[in-house]
Amino acid sequence: MRGHLMKGGAAWRAGLLSAAASFAAVSTALEIPPLRDIPRDKVHEVRVLYLEDPRLPSLGQEQLLRLEARLEALVPEFLGFKVRFKDLGRRDLRAFFDAHAEVFAEHRGEIEAMDLDPGKPADRRAIRSAIRKDFGPRDLALIREYFPGRELKDKRTAARAAYRVFLERLRAIRAIPALDGKPLSDPARRELTLYPYWTFLQFGTDAADLLLTNTVVAGADDGMPIYVIARGGISTGITNNNLSSPLQGNSLVGLLPFLSDAPFFLKERGPIPEEERLEVIATFTLHELGHLLGRYVEYYDHPGCVHVAPKGLRYLEWHREVRRSGRCAREHKKLRRY
Ligand SMILES: [Zn+2]
Ligand SMILES: [Zn+2]
Repeated sequence: MRGHLMKGGAAWRAGLLSAAASFAAVSTALEIPPLRDIPRDKVHEVRVLYLEDPRLPSLGQEQLLRLEARLEALVPEFLGFKVRFKDLGRRDLRAFFDAHAEVFAEHRGEIEAMDLDPGKPADRRAIRSAIRKDFGPRDLALIREYFPGRELKDKRTAARAAYRVFLERLRAIRAIPALDGKPLSDPARRELTLYPYWTFLQFGTDAADLLLTNTVVAGADDGMPIYVIARGGISTGITNNNLSSPLQGNSLVGLLPFLSDAPFFLKERGPIPEEERLEVIATFTLHELGHLLGRYVEYYDHPGCVHVAPKGLRYLEWHREVRRSGRCAREHKKLRRY
């Protein structure tokens, strides 16, 4: 996941902390209380809402209920928590964003500061700097794992190569044809796939604890971690603070990278056998629920551990390794705020 954060907090996104730099200031101002531990001895209700973009491939209601049933079994096994999913059905993605116009208006300044547009030279410089900032503390050996098959002799070379890969993949993702034949990224509604909007939606909504959507969060922002950079800006999942949720947080999983067999995904991800698709989604959702229920930070160095985000778009291989490995017995540190 990526999560949002406070100053000095670990920026992890399963998708979310991208906002590290700007959300730091924001979360201080928002006076977010520290996360409480979620007790393991009682059953927690997780309200699930599905946000549907009719232009994109989707899960039917029966598949969604099957996914929730699988997760009720997998969460105790992999995370050690007891949960019951409360299915809230589905809402139209555009209508849901419209219904939260006030949240976006209230945080317009922060959203615009976080959002980087690769079409603007100043923002391209900021993207390069975001990549250098993320790579700074990392080992070159780890960076190479995210960009296989490339000659990366030092971190400077790695950052330059990563920048090119990032722009190329993001362009390809935005151009993926939707069911109406037009590109995925709708210029009239660009916010529907942008990380800063989703993070504030997660912070500001009182509608659910877990949001599933058939679109994808893909763009550039100033706090992208390496696994988001390597995917061309895709934050597959995001977990963020939420003041109204009994779990004090909100997790999001964008399902398009699992549901779409567009050439971009087939090339970068490979095919997912139909009978494994829901299981791969369930494993990825477990990763986000590890952030939400366990408060766990993002891990990079635990082989086979569900708390390590998939490298690139190799979701299927990652899922199989996590299931083969079972629950990770190593210690997992907790965040005080997302
Ligand atoms: Zn994560
Ligand atoms: Zn682990």
